[in-house]
Amino acid sequence: MKIIMLGPPGAGKGTQARMIAEKYSIPQISTGDILREEVKKDSALGREAKSYMDKGELVPDKLIIDIILKRLDEGGASKGYILDGFPRTVAQAVAFTSALSERDERVDSVINIEVERGELIRRLSGRRTCVECGAMFHVHFDPPRRDAVCDKCGGKLIRRDDDNEETVANRLEVYRKQTEPLINYYEGSGVFNAVDGMGSIEDILKRMEEALEGQKDP
Ligand code: AMP
Repeated sequence: MKIIMLGPPGAGKGTQARMIAEKYSIPQISTGDILREEVKKDSALGREAKSYMDKGELVPDKLIIDIILKRLDEGGASKGYILDGFPRTVAQAVAFTSALSERDERVDSVINIEVERGELIRRLSGRRTCVECGAMFHVHFDPPRRDAVCDKCGGKLIRRDDDNEETVANRLEVYRKQTEPLINYYEGSGVFNAVDGMGSIEDILKRMEEALEGQKDP
């Protein structure tokens, strides 16, 4: 299954994509995670991307499209994948659709997770991520057992650089201007699903699974 997850920052795309990837045994491909890895390595790509990421701006389309196409050609993506954080502009979506059709492939499902703005800010400001395994926690809604220590692997929990108040506000604005128009792009595709992203992680997962079950290959 080839799945695209849409939704604003803080909607829970990463959390849900991780669980769906496990259930369907497909890789979760997150352009944000790939970029953060490059930043960690201090590669040329990482240094360029960081200047945009720190401000909450989008990394240029050309860089992102190259990253994603390279990743899809690597092993493990032949059975399908779940894309989390890509595409984020109409130009990326158009380039992706045409790259897929050149390969005689298409996306099976596009899921848009809908969450109110106030809730997004609450979620993002308390979010903590494990530097080792990437597991996510929230200081109020899903706190780790020990302060700043990952329950799963014992790694250190950090707040992402771009989860501070000022950058969050800009990321939400960038989302509204550059990413929200994608809803329109995919709505007529026949594979678009809107999923209510309010409630518990389990409730949202159930809604996601229902949407996907309705769209499994015939
Ligand atoms: P995320 O982890 O998906 O919230 O992404 C973190 C940051 O990485 C974003 O704020 C952007 O600066 C950059 N980024 C991730 N994915 C994309 C994309 N598809 N297009 C442009 N920039 C991206």
